[in-house]
Order: sequence, then C-alpha cells, then structure tokens
Amino acid sequence: MSNPEDPTRFRAIGRKSVRLSLTPRDLMEGEVLARAWAAHVITLFPQAFPGVLGQSLTGKALAEGLWQLHTHDLRDHGEGPHRKVDDTPAGGGPGLVLRPDILARAITVAQNMAAPGTPLIYLSPRGARFDQAQARALAAGPGAILICGRFEGLDDRVLTHFNVQEVSLGDFVLTGGEIAAQALIDATVRLIPRVLGNQGSIEEESFSEGLLEHPQYTKPAVWEGHAIPEVLLSGHHAKVVSWRKAMAARLTKERRPDLWRAYCAMHGLNPDEEPKL
Ligand code: SAH
Repeated sequence: MSNPEDPTRFRAIGRKSVRLSLTPRDLMEGEVLARAWAAHVITLFPQAFPGVLGQSLTGKALAEGLWQLHTHDLRDHGEGPHRKVDDTPAGGGPGLVLRPDILARAITVAQNMAAPGTPLIYLSPRGARFDQAQARALAAGPGAILICGRFEGLDDRVLTHFNVQEVSLGDFVLTGGEIAAQALIDATVRLIPRVLGNQGSIEEESFSEGLLEHPQYTKPAVWEGHAIPEVLLSGHHAKVVSWRKAMAARLTKERRPDLWRAYCAMHGLNPDEEPKL
C-alpha cells in the first residue's frame, strides 16, 4: 500500500450523490453512493504520479474528485533488507524479471480496494494496441488497475493466474509502464463527463466518428503569406461543417487507409472513390 504521508498519494474522495426517484427499490436503498472513476497503479515509481496528469484539465478534475488516482508501491511488498521485487530470468539471459508472488500481493491489495469488476491491465508491448474505442469502454466502467512493468517485464504466470489483459501503446519498447499508464489514464479520464470543459470537442475530434480530425486554424488570418481557407471565415455554418467533414475524409484516406476502409464499410461507401470536397 502507498504511504499515507506520501504527498503523491491522493485522497480517496467518495462522491456522494442523492438520486431523486420514486421507485420502491430506490426508496428502499435510500441514498445511492456514486464512486468516481478510479485508477489503481501498481508501480516501482509511485513518485512519477500524477505526473502530467496533475496538470491542466485532468489535474483540475482530479482535485475536484471527478476521478481518483491511487498508487500501489510494489517495493512495499518486496522481500529482504532491500525489499527485492525481482530476480534473474529462468533459463538465463540478461536483465531481471518481476516476481509473481510479490506482484500477486500488490494486485490483491489493489483489487480489494477497487470497485468490483474493475479491469486488470498490464501495460506491455505484447498487448493489443490501445485505441479510442478502448478508452471509451474503460471510461464507462468503474476504473482500471494498471500494472507497470520494469526491466524484462513480469513473470508470465501472474498474467495467466489473474487473467490480466495486456495493453500496448504501440510497436516500440519503453523502459517502464509508467508513461504508458499515464497515457491510458489521460485518454480515458478526458472522456468522463465534466472533465473537459467543452464536451463538444470530444464529439468532433479524431477517431470520434472513425475519421481523423480536419485541420484547425486560428488568428492571424494571413500568416507568412499563408491564408486561412476562405470558407472558414465565410460565417456560413453549413458550409464550414461540410468542408470540415470532407477534409477529415480526405486526410483519413491519405494517411490512414485502414481507418478509411473501415469507415467506408460502415457507411456503405466505395473506399476507392475520391471523398467529395
Ligand atoms: N522485455 C519486454 C519489454 C520490457 S520493457 C519485451 O520485450 O516485451 C519494460 C516495461 O515497459 C514493460 O514491462 C511494460 O510495462 C513497459 N512497456 C514497454 N513498452 C511498452 C509499450 N509499447 N506499451 C506499453 N507498455 C510498455
């Protein structure tokens, strides 16, 4: 468990809300306690949290209790005078592997603290690639327990024993899971209602409809001889909307043929046809 004196440890804020309803079942239950979305991070570097998540909108939402962050220091479960958490790989080879028995203790503590049904995830380059659909699914749930690996990773038995889901940020290797966990948490908590000031920006941004976002511009109207596309300054809302949609389609077709084919299949379009501008 994390040290209660540790300033990086966040208060568990159970947000209380009273639902007004007249159904007998609700009357029987009386007050309904709503729990905020909670991230439980198992890590050797709890001091790396909240990191960038403590800034800007995610930081404000954390302070307001719209979501919670709990770090679980793996070192607390280590053994011996140096609280050892790892050992050499069976079969030889370089590096160190995190021990299953030590990890199991941290996982059990986190699971006992988290809401029932909270998914258990290991950030790992072998995992399924994280995407916006998964961020949406996680945001709709009670939170996530995230295991950050270090060195050569975890003893594989712990993954099967706890039925851990492996999630990757992409086809590259990080030194540890902490940055990946922060990326996953960031992408997820910004989808929780009221975390972003402007909910409309979620509806229009990249991936929201299976397309990349259209280009954005701001003042000055002409910069270094480059003008903002005229339609955006026309004040004609319908034309702006259709221009943005067409640009999103063109950009997606050019840069992400995989997304474009999926979008066309969903909307009954021919992916080889030029998107209309
Ligand atoms: N030996 C492992 C890599 C270990 S890297 C392998 O080859 O698969 C150390 C830790 O960094 C991992 O345990 C994992 O938690 C994290 N990590 C590395 N790359 C990652 C990625 N692409 N996505 C998510 N986590 C990653």
